[in-house]
Amino acid sequence: MENISRIKEKCVGCKSCEQSCLKHCISMGENKEGFWYPVVYEKNCVECGKCLKTCPAENIEQHRNMPQTVWAWRNKNDADIMKSASGGAADSAAKAVLQMGGVVYGAAYDDQLVVSHIEIESNAEREKIQSSKYVQSDPNDSYSKVKQRLAEGKKVLYTGTPCQIAGLYAFLGGDKPNLYTVDLICHGVPSPKFFKKYIEYQNKKTDGRVIYFNFRSKDKRGWGTQYLLKTKTKTKTKTKTKTLSLDRYGKHFMDSDCYRESCYQCAYANTSRVGDITVGDFWGIAKSHPEFNSPKGVSSVFVNTEKGQELFEKMKPFAEAEQATLKEAMVKQGNLVQPSNRPENRSNFYKEIDEPDFVSNLKVGLQLKARIKSILPSKLIQKIKSL
Ligand SMILES: Cc1cc2nc3c(=O)[nH]c(=O)nc-3n(C[C@H](O)[C@H](O)[C@H](O)COP(=O)(O)OP(=O)(O)OC[C@H]3O[C@@H](n4cnc5c(N)ncnc54)[C@H](O)[C@@H]3O)c2cc1C
Ligand code: SF4
Ligand code: SF4
Ligand code: SF4
Repeated sequence: MENISRIKEKCVGCKSCEQSCLKHCISMGENKEGFWYPVVYEKNCVECGKCLKTCPAENIEQHRNMPQTVWAWRNKNDADIMKSASGGAADSAAKAVLQMGGVVYGAAYDDQLVVSHIEIESNAEREKIQSSKYVQSDPNDSYSKVKQRLAEGKKVLYTGTPCQIAGLYAFLGGDKPNLYTVDLICHGVPSPKFFKKYIEYQNKKTDGRVIYFNFRSKDKRGWGTQYLLKTKTKTKTKTKTKTLSLDRYGKHFMDSDCYRESCYQCAYANTSRVGDITVGDFWGIAKSHPEFNSPKGVSSVFVNTEKGQELFEKMKPFAEAEQATLKEAMVKQGNLVQPSNRPENRSNFYKEIDEPDFVSNLKVGLQLKARIKSILPSKLIQKIKSL
């Protein structure tokens, strides 16, 4: 039948089709790896084609723009920048839209550390969507909620991976006057099932329960890729920080061997952006703008549309910003050039996921350079980088 079931591995899992089908014959089913894909109840399908019209994989060129200006960005507020992944640019966008009386959508953990897109409407809630969660965030029915909010005349900011932003535009049938979007430079996403198994592994290892997880903690070594994990046992609360690449989950996230299949053919791994604004880590800042570098983090911000420019002006009071070039912001950003490579072991990565010792059997290797780096004082590393 001519419906969404033909998308197959190109599916990014945005759930737009599920929310669009007027016959309610699409549900999202989880495959063995733990990624969700549409399942069509063919008997009720009338082949109206709506699911295909609202699928980003079928509408790749919708709302694509080259960056008009590029900036290095540092949130002025110390508490805010420390909670953000890089320079807190996405957080400044959230602050700006909340100030306009709008609502913001972003990825948050629930109390079981499952990540999904939620709506926030106050500054007190901003913290929930700050920082990167390196796992696929479940969009749930957020697109339908956005549609509803726009119909109420509200301003809406939607933040997420480029494919999630593309899914939203496809679902809404294009851009809408009160809608602002921020996309991320994106490496790829592991499956929620893998992250769940990993949290279970940590629970077991610590004989407690993980109550807090931050993939991008700056508490110990500043801006970089260190995670922080808090576990609660019967008698105490423990905190642990580690370099992502030396961790069983983090290493495989960094090595790109556990991503959703669509990530290896990502249509957004280039400089033609889908969001009004794009944010990422300004990894090359130490060389291109050494005086602007900060151990608290620097974001790169691409202003891609007129609406992006409007939002950028409202964000500016919250930060220090310095104009940069696209070339400078592309340093160490392979995903602005091409999708992540699909390593050979990707085909086997999830094979044993249902085995009880799946996570404990994952290897991290010796990684001498990463181990030395993880014990050197962070100030020394910053200095070496600027040379
Ligand atoms: C899976 C993933 C891969 C990434 N890959 C790269 C990369 O290769 N290069 C790079 O420069 N940057 C990458 N980023 C972006 C980077 O980690 C920071 O999010 C970015 O620098 C913005 O930081 P910030 O301080 O402005 O954001 P913050 O103020 O910390 O806000 C974080 C924002 O990210 C959104 N977010 C967090 N987790 C998710 C998620 N799982 N799905 C969708 N949205 C999410 C939140 O909604 C929020 O708006 C990636 C992010 C994710 C989630
Ligand atoms: S073609 Fe129409 S009826 Fe069939 S699954 Fe798609 S949206 Fe539903
Ligand atoms: S990309 Fe989105 S709309 Fe397209 S098939 Fe997948 S879930 Fe459905
Ligand atoms: S790499 Fe591409 S397909 Fe994968 S989550 Fe990121 S934007 Fe989506």
